[in-house]
Amino acid sequence: MPGRRPQFVVIDTETTGLDPRHDRVIDIGAVRLDEDLTVAARFTTLVDPGIPVPLFVTRLTGITDADLDGAPAPAAALAGLQEFAGDALLVAHNAAFDRDHLRETARRAKVAPLAGDWFDTLEAALLLYPELDRHALPILVEELGLPWPAHRALPDAEATAEVLARLARRAAGLAPDERRLLEGISWPPLAVLDTCAASPDEAPPPPAPPTAGADRPPALPVEADGWRAQLDGAGGAPAGLADRLPGFRRRPAQIDYAAAVADVFAQGGVAVFEAGTGMGKSLGYLLPAAHAGAASGRRVLVSTKTKALQRQLARAELPLVAATLPEGWRWTLLMGRENYLCRRRLSEAVAAQGEALPDVERSLALAYLCGRARRGEVDLSALPYRALQVLPALADLAREVRSSRATCLGRHCPLRGECHWRLARARAEAAHLVCVNHALLLSAGDALPAFEDVVIDEAHLLYHEATEAFSDRVDAASVERLLGDLRGHRRQRRLAQRLRTAARKLGPDEGRAVAQAADACERAAEEIPGLSRALGDAIAALARSAASDDGSAAGPAHPEYASTVWLTPGLRDRPEYDALLVHAGLLSEGLSRLAAAAAAAGELLPEDHREHSILVVLADDAAAAAGLLLDLPEERDPETVSWAELESAPRVAAGAPRWALTRSPLTPATGIREVLWGRLRSAVLTSATLTAAGSFSYFREMTGITGDVDARERVFPSPFDYRRQAVLVLEHAPGDAWRPDELAVRQGERLRQIAQVTGGRTLALFTNTRDMHRVAAAVGEHVEDDGVLVLAQGLHGSAASLAEEFRTHPETILLGVDTLWTGQDFPGDTLTCLVIAKLPFPRLDPLVRARERACAAAGERWFERFYLPEAVLKFRQGFGRLIRTETDTGVVVVLDHRLTQKAYRRDFLASLPDMEVVEAPPAHVAAVVDHHLRRLTAARAPDGRAAIDASDEARAT
Ligand code: SF4
Repeated sequence: MPGRRPQFVVIDTETTGLDPRHDRVIDIGAVRLDEDLTVAARFTTLVDPGIPVPLFVTRLTGITDADLDGAPAPAAALAGLQEFAGDALLVAHNAAFDRDHLRETARRAKVAPLAGDWFDTLEAALLLYPELDRHALPILVEELGLPWPAHRALPDAEATAEVLARLARRAAGLAPDERRLLEGISWPPLAVLDTCAASPDEAPPPPAPPTAGADRPPALPVEADGWRAQLDGAGGAPAGLADRLPGFRRRPAQIDYAAAVADVFAQGGVAVFEAGTGMGKSLGYLLPAAHAGAASGRRVLVSTKTKALQRQLARAELPLVAATLPEGWRWTLLMGRENYLCRRRLSEAVAAQGEALPDVERSLALAYLCGRARRGEVDLSALPYRALQVLPALADLAREVRSSRATCLGRHCPLRGECHWRLARARAEAAHLVCVNHALLLSAGDALPAFEDVVIDEAHLLYHEATEAFSDRVDAASVERLLGDLRGHRRQRRLAQRLRTAARKLGPDEGRAVAQAADACERAAEEIPGLSRALGDAIAALARSAASDDGSAAGPAHPEYASTVWLTPGLRDRPEYDALLVHAGLLSEGLSRLAAAAAAAGELLPEDHREHSILVVLADDAAAAAGLLLDLPEERDPETVSWAELESAPRVAAGAPRWALTRSPLTPATGIREVLWGRLRSAVLTSATLTAAGSFSYFREMTGITGDVDARERVFPSPFDYRRQAVLVLEHAPGDAWRPDELAVRQGERLRQIAQVTGGRTLALFTNTRDMHRVAAAVGEHVEDDGVLVLAQGLHGSAASLAEEFRTHPETILLGVDTLWTGQDFPGDTLTCLVIAKLPFPRLDPLVRARERACAAAGERWFERFYLPEAVLKFRQGFGRLIRTETDTGVVVVLDHRLTQKAYRRDFLASLPDMEVVEAPPAHVAAVVDHHLRRLTAARAPDGRAAIDASDEARAT
């Protein structure tokens, strides 16, 4: 029964920054809501902060120091707000922010803080909009289809009021299980929202299950070259897509590329196609692949690197392609089985929660997963970062309720008809085009439907993914996870205790056996931590021993990697290696005993017992870890490389080494050949970066496209005019020795100077996290006074979140490693200066060193054969971040002096498009950047598009 509905006053504040102790409130907006949650009255005031308004706040809000001149003092503003709010329930989005700023303002003004309780729409939105990845106010506003009102307090308060009304409808539309979980813990937001008695907001119905079909999707009445009408059209006038894709233009390079892809599908065989940035690669392969598959009834797989890229294709390009084909054409996404939520295990977890004492964290996580699944989000690998932070029980729960072959009841499952994995698999069986990721493609298991044709996008990452997929690894973290299962998660009792309870309900013989298994699990939980620690100590001792001689087996002298030990035959004579074998063996035995106990108990409990699945997974995982611990240190196959690692030197010193043992193939090429090239009719491998210095050799060698695997090769150049759009500036210090230890200082100095001429709009790519963080600290101190923000990947947020921040606020210097070399685009004027801090040669890890040794043994030059091409490919990927559209302009700066001094500069420069290259002494780099940025900008007509089209015309004639 809903309680009495409170009065709602929705509040928003703008401030000079995030910290209530140092920052000040400058703008307050509030709205009082009617019975039907519409706005009845408004309150707004600026506040004199007594300190200057920072530049970034003025940019964000439009509020200047002059606006605040003569504004009410904090005490007066607070008094006005208090009078307006009365005794209402105070509502805000991320309420702690507004509440803390207003409290601190009151404390400083020596007046009473605002009276009243707070309701946080952000907290409620996480559970009631579980299908969203982020719940910031602008994102919710967009989801609700409302216009974004800009960062001012009153419009933001009004937007928050809209969100509140929608949350009330979502609360009214909760499914029974979700409601029971939340009511069971008296979740405060639900009690408030229920008082609104809103009409329910229903979830969309689940998609209809596909009808069972034959092995192949049906052939449809389309022409295999039907793609051409979409991209080209009769008489040169594109049809179809032109109506559906804003800004679509006929692009000869794209048509040429699509024709080549179509030819591979028609003729069969393997093709490696480098498709330069900006030519419309995705549609260029999707359209011919889709039309070929539809016309022939042959299923096509499209593989890309990550699940995020799969989802991007599903959101953007695949619906467009579907619209060009007949009704019966089907496409779907497919991920690995363990990404999917198991309906039965989730139902069991919900039921168990009903019987147990209320566990707030677990109930919230369960309600979240139930709501997310009901709205079609069943991919456990894509749980949003914020949800994992805010719901501490979520990560363990996700692991517990994932689908797995080991725990699946198959035909006996009562929820088989609703099983997410089975439905996804059935959709793939019925689809003409299935979008997968490289890891799933390489698994070659029965998870994939039958296929003969494949397009591999982001193919430059295929061999990295294959190395990962064909590697084995066991580590302290995985052992810790097993121990977590034994100890019980959150407020769960220990597994042994739960098994003893289960044993009491069985017959005498079975009960005794389960109780014995429980004792064995208890002993394992006690002994395994010590065994794991001892193995870490043994690896540390071996690392010290290896580092004490010529260092050939130890990793490079770098704090992060000092404890990487390549397990070479040469180390096997050392007593420390014997100790490693002994301690790996002891831990393996402990895990084997655990696996045997868990398997025995699992066999004795009925399949539908709630501990059965946990025991099966525990037994499987413990047995797998035990096997690897025995195998890896003994590995003698010359085609594999094994190594041991300790997480970091400081942890070793602190006596808590986190260890890992890994075994990788020397090259992934053999595995890729076996899994792919032998079984396919046709394959197109494509990416913007497959060649090094104009040659596909390195890529082909790493992917096994050699010998009897013939392939056509072709480079489709980017349509961008780099001579007109970009300049490459190389810092040049003739005669300067290469001093890596001074690099970070020099990089910081140069970035400070560059920031002064660019005012941000700069992405700097690093090869080493530690140096990047040092540079971030050094540069940030200097440039933030000028309104330029310095954001470093990992230090200030994830690559994705910082990239988003950069797009919104380009007055930023964004520093990145890894994913920012490849994974994010910044079209337009957001990015005008790309800095490559250091040439991206691979780290000398055991795998690279083993390849080096194998080359030397074969009398080959390892540097030219794979070390240099790998660096060139990564350099090209980083370089490709700058120019993303035909109207972009900008400067690439390389701070690594080796690019002007070493002979291999030719390989790097020959891999770049035709463009102007200038060298500048260190003291002049910023001035040269400034000069070229001004020149490139001036060369753009006010309407850049028109200027470029005119120039294209001129060239064409
Ligand atoms: S069929 Fe297997 S994976 Fe699917 S819901 Fe049932 S137990 Fe879970």
